[in-house]
Amino acid sequence: RGRSDNKTNTDRHSTHKDGKGNVLVSVRVRPDVGAGDGKQELEWDVNGKRSLISYKGKEGGDYIYDNVFDTQDNNARVYDGAAKRLVRRVMEGYHGTVFAYGMTGTGKTFSMQGTATNPGVIPLAITDIFSYIRETPHREFLLRVSYLEIYNERIHDLLAGPIATGLNNQPTQQEEIKLREDSKRGVYATPLKEEIVQSPTQLLRVIARGDNARRVAGTQFNARSSRSHAVVQIVVESRERVPGGAASMKENKRVAMAPGGVRVSTLSLIDLAGSEKAADNKERRTEGSHINKSLLTLGTVIARLSSDKEKEKDKPSKDQGKHLPYRDSKLTRLLQPALSGNSLVSILCTIQTGSSGSVAAAHSHTGETLNTLKFASRAKNNIISHAKKADESLGAGGDAGSRALLDRYRIEIQ
Ligand code: ADP
Ligand code: MG
Repeated sequence: RGRSDNKTNTDRHSTHKDGKGNVLVSVRVRPDVGAGDGKQELEWDVNGKRSLISYKGKEGGDYIYDNVFDTQDNNARVYDGAAKRLVRRVMEGYHGTVFAYGMTGTGKTFSMQGTATNPGVIPLAITDIFSYIRETPHREFLLRVSYLEIYNERIHDLLAGPIATGLNNQPTQQEEIKLREDSKRGVYATPLKEEIVQSPTQLLRVIARGDNARRVAGTQFNARSSRSHAVVQIVVESRERVPGGAASMKENKRVAMAPGGVRVSTLSLIDLAGSEKAADNKERRTEGSHINKSLLTLGTVIARLSSDKEKEKDKPSKDQGKHLPYRDSKLTRLLQPALSGNSLVSILCTIQTGSSGSVAAAHSHTGETLNTLKFASRAKNNIISHAKKADESLGAGGDAGSRALLDRYRIEIQ
């Protein structure tokens, strides 16, 4: 009864079922690729009700997560356990963020993008988004997608053509992309290309274009992709479908029917830069310091949210979290809506056991694995998130512009 085991493993995590307890933390152990040195610092137990990793080295101990994915688990299994529920919630109007955290070579990109035969979180999410749309004929949907990269604290639009990088990685062609904030849209990057997509194929093609821009830049700057954060954002707008549907549309009676409010939510799928310590040449050190700073700030935001939770016990405060250092890095600034309590969050931490001839072994492998495990457990205990469904009468979608877009580009169910 292997199949029902799978089901149990996924269903026992109630974390993304309702509006409470919205942070899911998973650890994925990738198979060792090289000739391991036989030194296994890790033991894990994914049987029964425990998702436990025991770390045997210095500072050893047991760490419990929502999911531990074994070396045998494929991407579909990872998606089911770590992202599926969140993606459905986004379709229902919550914000949701999945991010992959771990050192280079441990499987972040493998988990997020996957391969043709073993598609990752991004393509599986896309399939689910369109299934949801088909299963929800009483609402109509509009999808917008953007794809950006944060490299050395600069934002590059991966959909605006190849990344033009000059000396010192300064953008030479693209206008500098800035982060702005307003009460309607929250934090957003501008100018940033957003593409409206109406089919899974179109959406996959847009993302493939972005991946390609990353790859091209990568050949110029030697595995740059492992030192940048890649952020796919899919904005989902929806509203109640007017009775009569397409037929009435054709007869142009729609105007008289006063369509309802538009609900807007965002799915963010983030492949973080490698969490390993910087190596010793100058360029690597510069990159490393930016990466360290953003991942550190991410950790700090998480830890501070936790200490606020402690304080909250004696002194409840409504603007809790306002003073957190989101602005210290582009990553946390962009993720602010996801980490300030109005979003579902799933953190997929990737690790590798033993040592091998891979990139992973070039770094202080043991220490990095422990760091990842600690980051993961810190996140589990500390992110406070109380997700709210987007209000149909509020948000960017409530305006006339969005209604017009939905009228033009809503996805027709075949
Ligand atoms: P990262 O993005 O974290 O740097 P990658 O996803 O590029 O790491 O993975 C490094 C290499 O290991 C790739 O060749 C990838 O195909 C392989 N790999 C990673 N995770 C797995 C896994 N769970 N099963 C099989 N191969 C994997
Ligand atoms: Mg990668």
